[in-house]
Amino acid sequence: MSFAYLQCIESRCRLRQNPKRDSYRCSACGGLLDVKYDFDAFDPAGLREIWHRRRLSGEPIDRSGVWRFRELIPFVGPEDRIISLSEGSTPLVGTRGAGYWAGPVHLTIKHQGNNPTGSFKDLGMTACITRASSRNVRMVACASTGNTSSSMAAYAARAGIRALLFVPYRQISAAKLAQALDFGAIVVEVGDTFDEAFQLLREIAPELDLYLVNSVNPFRIEGQKTIVAEMLEQRAWRPPDYIVVPGGNLGNASAIGKALQELLELGFIEKVPRVVVVQAEGANPFYRTLAEGSADLIPVSEPNTQATAIRIGRPANWKKARRVLEWTGGFCESVTDEEILEAKRVLAADGVGCEPASAATVAGVRKLCRAGKIERHADVIAVLTGNQLKDTDYIMRHRSGTEENRQRLSVEPTLEALRRALERALAVPA
Ligand SMILES: *Cc1c(COP(=O)(O)O)cnc(C)c1O
Ligand SMILES: [Zn+2]
Repeated sequence: MSFAYLQCIESRCRLRQNPKRDSYRCSACGGLLDVKYDFDAFDPAGLREIWHRRRLSGEPIDRSGVWRFRELIPFVGPEDRIISLSEGSTPLVGTRGAGYWAGPVHLTIKHQGNNPTGSFKDLGMTACITRASSRNVRMVACASTGNTSSSMAAYAARAGIRALLFVPYRQISAAKLAQALDFGAIVVEVGDTFDEAFQLLREIAPELDLYLVNSVNPFRIEGQKTIVAEMLEQRAWRPPDYIVVPGGNLGNASAIGKALQELLELGFIEKVPRVVVVQAEGANPFYRTLAEGSADLIPVSEPNTQATAIRIGRPANWKKARRVLEWTGGFCESVTDEEILEAKRVLAADGVGCEPASAATVAGVRKLCRAGKIERHADVIAVLTGNQLKDTDYIMRHRSGTEENRQRLSVEPTLEALRRALERALAVPA
């Protein structure tokens, strides 16, 4: 049996700790923790075959795009109940105009919006709530820019665990809030930013005996990791040149890097793609920190972007993510809200919908290509993190209502008026 333990990520500490501990901080130095494994000796070819065969199975645990790869996340015991909603197994979608616009590069979309609650958070949540359930946790909590809430609420409901959410006041999209309410969570609107809500939650958590499922919880990272195995399998195990993700709290970038490292060590791949993180200009602490070569995080005290999922000024996982960029030779880019809007339009023109934060990836690829950092015709996978319907307010703001916008017409119900309106609207080439 493979064996799991927790280890501090700080290079001067590296303390190993008991995997039964439920803290997400090192007991010696307060650093973040990694879940580490002494893996069984694997035969990669044999395991690929097993994973492939599970796709034909009707067992829920095999249908899940996370648990199908369970040999990579062996922290659950045989007696543990797996809390799954059939997450993962999301499509890889080729692009048409978007790849040309962004490069030209060979751009493929890994669409994480096709998950049970509509974002990649479900991959981490199935792992984390499974862990919480195995520890007999009674109440889980998180602070969130929205998608973690939706996801936590769903998986907690499934596990029969109470769910408590802290979200910044009037800052998360109506759809995400509605999902959390629908799944029965208690929602506390508090603070002006994610960072503020998160800080308050951390302070009150011990008093209320809350189990935190923010991405500082290393078991979240373990579930999110499996996206890499899945995308590589979809490409017959041929790694791309780049994997691009939007960066908020930087859990996703950390997870992708951890997966690449383990898959390399276990002999599944020989080449490692560069991991690229894209932040919004108004919320780009990681970009600033790397650009300055600063040893400490340079936080953004008033993060601001319409891409609310990445509106974070003090990313908890920045050290894990920095490690990933250094190890893979990747980089971080920063894009404006206008660039995000344009990228979202270009994706939409390919028939690919997503939420604004996700479109930051493609905007970032374009910028990096123009700067010569990503080479023309590179093989790029952009991870679109969230579903189009997560933020319809954003779409309505940008796609209807303005004077020159001829997409949304309101017409008096006569043929005459209809003819006039359509003549005007259709005069503009598509
Ligand atoms: C959470 C989220 C992000 C940011 O991911 P991190 O792991 O926090 O960096 C990006 N896009 C969407 C849609 C998200 O929900
Ligand atoms: Zn430590």
